[in-house]
Amino acid sequence: MNASSAMKKISYKNKIISRVGKFNKKHKALAVFGMGYAVLAICIYNFLFYFYSNVKRFTCLACILLFFVSSSSFSHPTMSLNISFASNIIEENISADDVTTLSETEIAQSDAELAVSKDVDSAIIEEALQSENPDVAEAEHLNPDKQASLTDILETVPDEEISMEDDSAKTSSSEQEVSFSKKDWSLILVNKQHPIPDDYTFPLGTIRGSMRCDERIIAPLLEMMRAAEREGVSLIICSPYRDKDRQTMLFDNKINRYMDAGMSYMDSYKLASQAVTVPGSSEHQIGLAIDIITDGYSSLDEGFGKTAAGKWLANNSYKYGFILRYPQGKEEITSIEFEPWHFRYVGVDAATFMVQNDICLEELWSYYLQ
Ligand SMILES: [Zn+2]
Repeated sequence: MNASSAMKKISYKNKIISRVGKFNKKHKALAVFGMGYAVLAICIYNFLFYFYSNVKRFTCLACILLFFVSSSSFSHPTMSLNISFASNIIEENISADDVTTLSETEIAQSDAELAVSKDVDSAIIEEALQSENPDVAEAEHLNPDKQASLTDILETVPDEEISMEDDSAKTSSSEQEVSFSKKDWSLILVNKQHPIPDDYTFPLGTIRGSMRCDERIIAPLLEMMRAAEREGVSLIICSPYRDKDRQTMLFDNKINRYMDAGMSYMDSYKLASQAVTVPGSSEHQIGLAIDIITDGYSSLDEGFGKTAAGKWLANNSYKYGFILRYPQGKEEITSIEFEPWHFRYVGVDAATFMVQNDICLEELWSYYLQ
């Protein structure tokens, strides 16, 4: 503090004291108020004077305070969340007055949240699995143009041609020793782990209209259908060969549908692969698989297994070289649910061997194929 400031301070003090002294002389009864006024005025003056003489120091302090206030305002949302969370706990704690009750409440709340998200997921999954199964890409099996009864097929394929091939197939199978090779075209394994080789080719034959399959299985297929008809069982072929473009299109459509519903690509892919066979891993693409329905039952579901046709096929298809490809009880090996309508040609010898030993194609490959 310099000399002039000190002088100002003293003269102000003296001014106040002399003014209060005069006041007190005039109004003796109010002397207390006069004294109070003097003390207050001197204190305020001193405070302001101190603030004025240290203005640099206080400016600095104000800047530091301002910095902290502004920086804390950026983290305000987080802070406020933490604060509200903490205050909630405190409130509940006080109201419940019991820590155990509080944690149970919290668990119940988090469970409720989980249950909600689970409900959403399972609803989508359920919808995916119920609406379609890996084998039924679209409701094409309901289209009469995509179905073929024995009569329909005989209109397309000349009868003599079939019986000739039929005889030759029978002769070769009865003479053959029971030994299987991985190179046998009819034993090719196609699943998610064994995609169709890029260079795989086969002769494509026509069943009816646009319905196609491997030409080599048409004869045994007709033989099986004839045998069933003789026993009063109607078999109707649907969804035989499906080309890669079509399978890819169906699969991509499924993915897009799930992605439109807000799912990630990975989740959509996973879910789509449960609903439609991943392109390159469907037996329908190699023309050796056929789906079969019957008069009065055109759903591709487990119920088909209980129809006369389903039962007949389960008991007799092997005699014609066809196996129920995804049997009940082998789901963990095939990775595909029971499909009583999906039949795969493997040849009479392999089919008979598989039925006798109760094994699926994956097991034949693992234990018996060279
Ligand atoms: Zn199928």
